[in-house]
Amino acid sequence: MKNIARLRDFIQSFTRLIERSGNDEELIFADGRKLLSDLVSRDDWLPGEFAQPSPERYRQYLLYCDPMERFSVVSFVWGPGQTTPVHDHTVWGMVGILRGAETCEEFETEPATGRLRATGSHQLPRGSIDLVSPRVGDIHRVSNALPDRTSISIHVYGANIGAIARHTYDPDTGRRKTFVSGYSKNVTPNIWDRSAELATQD
Ligand code: FE
Repeated sequence: MKNIARLRDFIQSFTRLIERSGNDEELIFADGRKLLSDLVSRDDWLPGEFAQPSPERYRQYLLYCDPMERFSVVSFVWGPGQTTPVHDHTVWGMVGILRGAETCEEFETEPATGRLRATGSHQLPRGSIDLVSPRVGDIHRVSNALPDRTSISIHVYGANIGAIARHTYDPDTGRRKTFVSGYSKNVTPNIWDRSAELATQD
């Protein structure tokens, strides 16, 4: 059985963190990465319907959105060979690898020409955490690093990320387009049914 309590505990701890940190991104990253690291260190809680790849493109399933839209939690599911476009976020974000492995290529805009410059790439093995924001570097492209298996990462953003107007970029020309990602499913996991846990306490 899936241990949904792990997701619920994460959401409760993250809500407390946001309440004491406000918009202090450095504090959110410092304490939030420990919470996310703990969440992705065990792969026994993500319900199967939020871990399904699609043959067409990567999926982004909303797992939770804070009622005040101060943060959201999303599972990204990549089939073999799938990749995002080059994109930005406009808010802080944290990525934790739950299953498989991912490749992240980073870019920045050259102010003079408006073109994109690749600034590096790194591998994200299972359990690792990556950070993005306009302050620490916000433009990247993420791919499944595995040719034959699904990879899944859990993302936390400082907004209702599927509802934010942000940008994709043409890597050759730097031309950017506004997009609003939405989510791949209209339901979220039920984190509130505690009956199974309570039933085992007698
Ligand atoms: Fe991203």
